[in-house]
Amino acid sequence: MDKYVLGMDVGGTHTRLGLVALDCSLTDFEIVKTEELQKSEDTVGSFIRVIREYLQRHAAGKEISAVSAGFPSTLDRDRRTVLSTPNIRGFNNIAIVDRLEEEFGIPAFIETDVDMLLLYDMFEHQIPAEGITCGFYFGTGLGNAVVIDGRLLIGKTGAAAELGHIPVRGLHGACGCGNTSCIEMIASGYHLKDLCVEKFPGVEIGEVFAKCRDQEEIHGFIDDLALAAATEINILDPDHIVIGGGLVYMEGFPRHELEEDIYKYARKPYPARELQYIYSRQGQENGVIGAGILAYKRLEELRKEGR
Ligand SMILES: [Zn+2]
Repeated sequence: MDKYVLGMDVGGTHTRLGLVALDCSLTDFEIVKTEELQKSEDTVGSFIRVIREYLQRHAAGKEISAVSAGFPSTLDRDRRTVLSTPNIRGFNNIAIVDRLEEEFGIPAFIETDVDMLLLYDMFEHQIPAEGITCGFYFGTGLGNAVVIDGRLLIGKTGAAAELGHIPVRGLHGACGCGNTSCIEMIASGYHLKDLCVEKFPGVEIGEVFAKCRDQEEIHGFIDDLALAAATEINILDPDHIVIGGGLVYMEGFPRHELEEDIYKYARKPYPARELQYIYSRQGQENGVIGAGILAYKRLEELRKEGR
């Protein structure tokens, strides 16, 4: 029987599912509305129903070894509980792994969505596991993931690599995390949308780089993205830097300007002199395949531990 893992990528609007084989090939890719996961008070119950229905459609004659899901959330250190998901109702403090394992009788794994994306990008671009790889995902929020010698940086409580929440002085308002001075408040798609409404009326957010990239406000915005990235680069001096996210894929996104701004903030002569960038390729499936890659890594670890 062919062996697969079920990979999932839970997003603010859409949730993507697919079966990932050991060679990282993807089949039976589907997109469902994330609302489907929120139809009852019991979010995990709805989550389980969506998975069960998906498996009924696609899993006949296949062996599914694990379920693996990426969330736009903070997770506990053991990666068994989703702690906080500011942008999706119902995904706070849920011990989802226990319920999934109980329901399906196979190992279940969760990770942050950006961790899954970085695992995918490292596979896609054949980035070696050794050394330090930093992923910056400039999307609706400011996503960040770090891999050190093949291991995702998790931290003492599970909250490492929250680059979007480094503090900067002089901001007004509140971040989704509850603090009031996070760089994500100015270096994210949320902020770009506000900027667009306020400064460029009549311009759709999707065309803001194509039409307004020479405007002072956009130069400032790119500078803020660079400020965040350079902060981490100066701390970690990474071997590889991956840049992705919805903003970067927009028409006219000024990649060269972003790189120049990062250079400006990077410590001289190093790491500034050695900066090189790998741009993530846009794809709906990336997070699902990344979830599959994570599951195979974890299954291998369980096998080595003899469990
Ligand atoms: Zn914050």
